[in-house]
Amino acid sequence: MSAIVAIVGRPNVGKSTFFNRLIQRREAIVDAVSGVTRDRHYGKSDWNGKEFSLIDTGGYVVGSDDIFEQQIDKQVELAIEEADALIFMVDVETGVTGMDEDVAKLLRRVKKPVFLAVNKVDNAKRAEDAVEFYGLGLGEYYPLSSINGSGTGELLDALVEVLPEIEEEESELPRFAVVGRPNAGKSSFINALIGEERYIVTDIAGTTRDSIDTKYNRFGFEFNLVDTAGIRRKSKVKEDLEFYSVMRSVRAIEHSDVCLLVMDATRGFDGQVANIFWLAHRNNKGIVILVNKWDLVEDKETNTMKQYTEKIKKAIEPFTDVPILFISALTKQRIYKAIETAVQVYNNRNTKIPTRKFNDIMLPIIENYPPPAYKGKFVKIKFCTQLPTPYPQFAFFCNLPQYVREPYKRYLENKLRENFDFSGVPIKVFMRKK
Ligand code: GDP
Ligand code: GDP
Repeated sequence: MSAIVAIVGRPNVGKSTFFNRLIQRREAIVDAVSGVTRDRHYGKSDWNGKEFSLIDTGGYVVGSDDIFEQQIDKQVELAIEEADALIFMVDVETGVTGMDEDVAKLLRRVKKPVFLAVNKVDNAKRAEDAVEFYGLGLGEYYPLSSINGSGTGELLDALVEVLPEIEEEESELPRFAVVGRPNAGKSSFINALIGEERYIVTDIAGTTRDSIDTKYNRFGFEFNLVDTAGIRRKSKVKEDLEFYSVMRSVRAIEHSDVCLLVMDATRGFDGQVANIFWLAHRNNKGIVILVNKWDLVEDKETNTMKQYTEKIKKAIEPFTDVPILFISALTKQRIYKAIETAVQVYNNRNTKIPTRKFNDIMLPIIENYPPPAYKGKFVKIKFCTQLPTPYPQFAFFCNLPQYVREPYKRYLENKLRENFDFSGVPIKVFMRKK
């Protein structure tokens, strides 16, 4: 699990330019592997060997400056609540604005590390202009240029220096995070599931100050529910903005083993649901999709579920090997099944396939359909094994790993999924030089 860094600031100061600069290098690789490009406002970066999650809060605020002005307090408050450190970005071209002062006022009270980034300092003249930002009362600032990269190293040096080490908590129990858009029915689902307080076994305060795992024993399963929007609303802010659900989901997802993605059947699997889905996928967490409020869907012919399932699968391509359940938090339909499935996905994610067995199954498949020749060269895969990682990753050893293209890796993944149960689990396939 990595620390979360949020970039705040008014529109057009260069937040997304800065964000892209930081995540580009890695995301390019991630996208090449998964074949998908999604959410542009959340990503992983690292500096001096320290990994962190980066959120461009501006990316979630759509609309004009007016709307932004109304939202900025909430946005910054939530960023303060959810992030481990904040980068407050301002623009030397425009100088200090009223909105900057508003944000600064909120940030001056914050105990967490705040870095004032004065952007668009592309030249020496602008470096002189930057001094006016001392006036924001946030102390030292970091002059930088997101476009040409100058000054960003100094900021990152200082940032990773103070980022907390977030230790993965030792837990034998599955950690489930219930995530989804506002009003999807997350709290109703949890209440239906848990019912009365008596099912709560203990409260374990997490090492991260905010997060709390609550241990439950239900239906013969023991599991931890990871704090998320629905359960413990510590925020004064009503969770009505999309941005909130994403921001709050980040921590819960990073902290979980399996994400129960609750969606509203009457609203469908829209872009925002997809964002949360890819957030979980990008973090290599197990996923179960719960199509909630199924009681509201009229005209449930035999094919309705099937058609609904197909639609969702289309939206989550190429990672379609995900359980999709139709539930109702209201009538409690299939909520037991939801937990049972989550436990199954948890187990799938922890599967360790013995190397001998893995080779016995995969090598004949490969022999039958070897990687296509590339530039006139033949690739020979000799051996394969599962890597000792927290989630399933597989290495295939061969003479020319660089000549194995994405489609063939996808083929291997599909075969792997056909022969072993990795339902709900993102897996990775690597080619290695033998
Ligand atoms: P956001 O709304 O805060 O995410 O801002 P954007 O990243 O979209 O940038 C707003 C504008 O500022 C764009 O036209 C960028 O090209 C420009 N910009 C961003 N960073 C720099 C910089 O370091 N120097 C200059 N001169 N322009 C920049
Ligand atoms: P959250 O924001 O995701 O925690 O959503 P809530 O649990 O607060 O639910 C939002 C609204 O949807 C509430 O009015 C619930 O009563 C309603 N709701 C939740 N689950 C169901 C369901 O399965 N069926 C129906 N008909 N309504 C539901």
